[in-house]
Amino acid sequence: MEKIRMTTPLVELDGDEMTRVLWKSIKEQLLEPFLDLKTEYYDLGLPVRDRTGDRITHDSAEAIKKYGVGVKCATITPNAQRVEEYKLHEMWKSPNGTIRAALDGTVFRAPIVVDGISPVVRNWKAPITIARHAYGDVYKGSEFRAAAGEKAELVLTGTDGSEKRKTIYEFECGGVVTGQYNKDSSIASFARSCFQYALDTKQDLWFSTKDTIAKVYDGEFKNIFQTIFDAEYKAKFEQAGLTYFYTLIDDAVARVIRSRGGFIWACKNYDGDVMSDMISTAFGSLAMMTSVLVSPDGKYEYEAAHGTVTRHYYKYLKGEQTSTNPMATIFAWTGALRKRGELDGLPDLSAFADRLEAACIRTIESGTMTKDLASLWEKGEPNAVTSDGFLAAVRAELEKTL
Ligand code: NAP
Ligand code: MG
Repeated sequence: MEKIRMTTPLVELDGDEMTRVLWKSIKEQLLEPFLDLKTEYYDLGLPVRDRTGDRITHDSAEAIKKYGVGVKCATITPNAQRVEEYKLHEMWKSPNGTIRAALDGTVFRAPIVVDGISPVVRNWKAPITIARHAYGDVYKGSEFRAAAGEKAELVLTGTDGSEKRKTIYEFECGGVVTGQYNKDSSIASFARSCFQYALDTKQDLWFSTKDTIAKVYDGEFKNIFQTIFDAEYKAKFEQAGLTYFYTLIDDAVARVIRSRGGFIWACKNYDGDVMSDMISTAFGSLAMMTSVLVSPDGKYEYEAAHGTVTRHYYKYLKGEQTSTNPMATIFAWTGALRKRGELDGLPDLSAFADRLEAACIRTIESGTMTKDLASLWEKGEPNAVTSDGFLAAVRAELEKTL
């Protein structure tokens, strides 16, 4: 059989621990036998990040900007314990944060849905995608503890030294106070990424904030979205038969729970952080959550939502077989390959991505799955297998279709 051709390389970002082990097996078992796989390889494994002073992470982000599509393995975000474990020169920043900042992107997370594992919410029939604004607000806030008698003020100093002031609170007892910000440019990028992704994936877009309370702050989010929608996307949405609407977050929560799914819910940074955990848990498993970073000018980085699965890796190092679920990592590859196929006009490549995803889903739906899913399976006795066993079953299923 002739291998499927690629023309532009995918930017490949390797990672750490158990997901690094799976990464190699996925390539060997499911990709290289069928594809003339072209990648530009960046090793974001922690030892190389340390050796290059994290240069490798910045270079990989530049490569995604250049080629347009990247696929990333989960990576360790170092903390004090990791500095010790890996004898690091520095506590390097989160690679995801670095890449997100370089691409000015928005993160979209969606669950992989299979028949036989029902969402906790019975009426959800299609995946719900969360779009999380990944800049500012409480994540870039400044905070103080205040003592009794202290007065908190908000001061804006102009370029000419002029001041605008508001009293936040005069503390009659101890308390806390915080200052937060966001930028029009970042909110606008967030909006464009959301509208673009809705068109790409042919899904309606919902956006919610608390603008009844934060009239200026959240009100600006609402206005920027509406202005950009009216000027740049309204006609395209109409043509595609899609809707965009804004609603108060309280209303959004109620509607999401009663919905059938199948839309994108855009959230501010904190709301997206919390709601994406709620959605992924309600759909079943973190191991089934896909994630893609989309920049406003249409650059894509695909990855799994979960981490490097450290606990399983330590077992693997002891020579034990693990049953780590490779689904979200496989879907990161298929997402990236499909997008590469679309951008390069290679329908065979996109079709391969579809077939591989379908083979994964059929494998699970026929009862063969990793342990994390076996406990959620509703259709009789599951065939719980190791990671290698699962990849072999997917490969057999894929070969049937070729
Ligand atoms: P994690 O790697 O997502 O794993 C947490 C637990 O979730 C695992 O111990 C496992 O539970 C379960 N799990 C996650 N993915 C699974 C899969 N594919 N198959 C089966 N079970 C799965 O999170 P963590 O342990 O908090 O973090 C580990 C490392 O990952 C950290 O160094 C962190 O910095 C990094 N991280 C990276 C990213 C990223 O690169 N995007 C994201 C998050 C975390 P059981 O042990 O109960 O089986
Ligand atoms: Mg969170």
